[in-house]
Amino acid sequence: MGNHSAICSRENGSACLATGWERRAIRALKETLSGLTIKDDHTESLLYVLDRARSLLGECYGGLLTWDLRGRVTVWRILGPPNSQSICIEPPPQDIGVLTAVRDEGRALRLSNTHNVAVAWGFPPGHPPFESLVATPLRGGGRTIGALYLAQGEEQAELPEEAEEILELFAAVAKANLEGVYFSRELAQEHRVLKAVQTSMTEGLVVLDSAGRIVYFNEAAENLLKFLGAESVGKPVEDFLQHNGDAFDNRESVALLLDAIGRADGIDNTVDMTLSKPERKDLEIVVFPINMEPGNRMTALLMRDVTNEREAGVRRDAFVSLASHELRTPMTSVVGFSELLLTRSAPRAVRRRWLEYIWGESKRLTGILDDLLNVSRIQSGKLAAREEVIRLQEVVEEVVAGITPMTEKHHFVITVPPDTPHVLADRDKVAQVLVNLLSNAVKYSPSGGEVSVSARFHTTERKVVVIVADQGIGIAPDDIKGLFSVFHRIRRPETEGIRGTGLGLYIVKTLVELMGGEVWVTSELNKGSSFFFSIPAAVSSTQSKEG
Ligand code: ADP
Repeated sequence: MGNHSAICSRENGSACLATGWERRAIRALKETLSGLTIKDDHTESLLYVLDRARSLLGECYGGLLTWDLRGRVTVWRILGPPNSQSICIEPPPQDIGVLTAVRDEGRALRLSNTHNVAVAWGFPPGHPPFESLVATPLRGGGRTIGALYLAQGEEQAELPEEAEEILELFAAVAKANLEGVYFSRELAQEHRVLKAVQTSMTEGLVVLDSAGRIVYFNEAAENLLKFLGAESVGKPVEDFLQHNGDAFDNRESVALLLDAIGRADGIDNTVDMTLSKPERKDLEIVVFPINMEPGNRMTALLMRDVTNEREAGVRRDAFVSLASHELRTPMTSVVGFSELLLTRSAPRAVRRRWLEYIWGESKRLTGILDDLLNVSRIQSGKLAAREEVIRLQEVVEEVVAGITPMTEKHHFVITVPPDTPHVLADRDKVAQVLVNLLSNAVKYSPSGGEVSVSARFHTTERKVVVIVADQGIGIAPDDIKGLFSVFHRIRRPETEGIRGTGLGLYIVKTLVELMGGEVWVTSELNKGSSFFFSIPAAVSSTQSKEG
């Protein structure tokens, strides 16, 4: 508002604001401000502000326009005179005449001596006539969202010069209110988005205040660190970690994490930790600062469960060492003996032995490559089993016939009762399971002995259980756990000279389970082992017999 002397020096015919007016204006503004609440419907707030501005100037009337994001009129309302009733101009026209400048250029507008022909200025039919008009833009959310205007009707004096300033002041009040609405809406929206992000994050997030106290954690963090709970909020992270240090497999990593939190400078602050309770889990924790305002730095801990990745890494390493060792050994023999054959002359019998080595090692190579191929198929989920009705006796006999020539120390006994029902399985896969179990039975009974394959029909469960038993080195009870895992080999003096990849039993288990069966083992050290696998029988209940 202009200063007092400037206002009173005006000598033209239009109205002049005296000090009393100023006081009234200040009071009206104060009332307007205190009467405004942050409402969702901003039209009501704007009309309220407009009405306060209008009543300050007496006989004028006010107008309110709002535009959507594309600049289309959404609301056009007229207020007063004489009372504060409002008229809606509906449907809102798209042609807004001179008010286009307010919308497009965001600037104020003043019209004088209009001769009361509103339509001549582009106002819609039905709009009250005016002799003079002041309009001011309303800004909100970074754009012109509307306009407020005051107009002096027919045969009335022109609007006072100060009307523009008064309108601007009231528009500023409206703008503050609008921003409040936007701000609170945006804040609520932001809050919702943040909440959704935090709860759907698979990474655990823990936030510490500048004093190192836990102020926030998300659900994923609670799932990773089972000892985190509502009671942890407000606790210094140092006490919290020291108190729960037993959950980690070494206390050194706790110290490393505390050290990273102490630094929290954003440079390589990744700490690897292993939880030993309630289950083993490898965690990767990234510690980084959150700068709030000068002097207030919070710290965030982002934690990821990397157990599977680590295991995959271990498996990859195992594969590399397997490939370099297990494939290389037979390869060296093949190359060496072929070289001998090519470069040395030797008696026929010796040459035959060399050829037999080459043949044996090539078969081993093919076997390992087949196993690896199977494992890669299993792990990529590409393995599928056919469902065929097969006669177990046939498959067992075929596989045993293939293995018998490989050993002279063992004798094979097949016991498949003639009334054993057919099974529902993939023939090639059953054969593969039998090959793996029988070759192990031979391999792990280096002194020879009996290797038996028998079958038993379990009527109630309608399955056939096959047992491959040997009289070999046996397996210690402690070694049975993990026996069917990929690349798992038992390291004992008795197994030292026996070559293998640790893939055979993993393949057995996967294939059997794929066909709807189960696999298990019983064993006694130095006495022998029995490997069992079950397969669904292809019988209807009327065919079944007590087994
Ligand atoms: P590989 O024989 O190539 O090492 P497997 O997965 O077939 O791999 O077997 C895993 C481990 O189980 C072997 O290393 C061996 O120690 C043990 N094992 C398997 N079959 C027998 C058996 N019949 N008798 C004793 N130990 C066995």
